Amino acid sequence: MDQTAVTVAAVHDVGPDAIAVEFETPEGFEARPGQFVKLIATVDGEAQPRFYTISSPDVTDTFEITIGIDPEGEVTPRLRTLAAGDEMTLSGPYGDAYYEDESRVLVLAGGPGIGPAVGIAERALDVGGQAAIVYRDDEPIHEDRLADLGARGVGIEILTPAETLDDAVADALTDETQVFIYGFAAFLDDATSALEAAGADPEAAKVENFG
Ligand SMILES: Cc1cc2nc3c(=O)[nH]c(=O)nc-3n(C[C@H](O)[C@H](O)[C@H](O)COP(=O)(O)OP(=O)(O)OC[C@H]3O[C@@H](n4cnc5c(N)ncnc54)[C@H](O)[C@@H]3O)c2cc1C
Repeated sequence: MDQTAVTVAAVHDVGPDAIAVEFETPEGFEARPGQFVKLIATVDGEAQPRFYTISSPDVTDTFEITIGIDPEGEVTPRLRTLAAGDEMTLSGPYGDAYYEDESRVLVLAGGPGIGPAVGIAERALDVGGQAAIVYRDDEPIHEDRLADLGARGVGIEILTPAETLDDAVADALTDETQVFIYGFAAFLDDATSALEAAGADPEAAKVENFG
């Protein structure tokens, strides 16, 4: 989809410094959890594009992105003021690290990478699959959705930045598991090392680097 005006349907606080923004799905927009969109914000009269990954299990009537607010950032403090009825410009979807009906998934998520993690796990369960999540953050977000997923049988390991991913990743891996990794570069490095330590091939993982 080329640049299109989209209407904000709702904004939810999903934890400290994090919001989930739900948009009304424009005509013809199709996407899967894990794909991302380009959102064009205007800051001091200048267009500032930023990328956000779909965190809803589908895009049927609305779709959601999860935004970690960086108080020092140029754009995210302004996105915090979004409200239902606001219009934004976006394009997409983009990316090839998305859920394709694999029957068992393990999502490794750092910071706002938990957005696509919950969307993918929900979609996997909805189509009869299995999911596990290893999530590292200083202040966990999306706790309600993680609790619901836990109640539906998803294995969820939440770690602090001081903890290694190695044991949790080794415990959650099986031969039949498709691994996904979402987060900023430092998290991707740690997740890749954890996969290597567990004897898995990091090249087989679907990876999205947030920057
Ligand atoms: C493919 C892709 C998908 C993305 N998906 C998401 C998403 O789903 N949710 C989301 O919140 N962000 C996502 N991002 C990052 C997002 O596009 C912005 O970079 C981020 O929101 C910061 O914007 P800003 O203008 O507030 O900060 P800026 O003024 O652009 O700068 C802040 C700097 O800090 C870095 N940064 C910001 N937060 C962190 C962090 N927690 N850890 C390490 N470095 C950080 C940024 O990369 C940047 O270098 C994605 C980026 C890419 C490329």
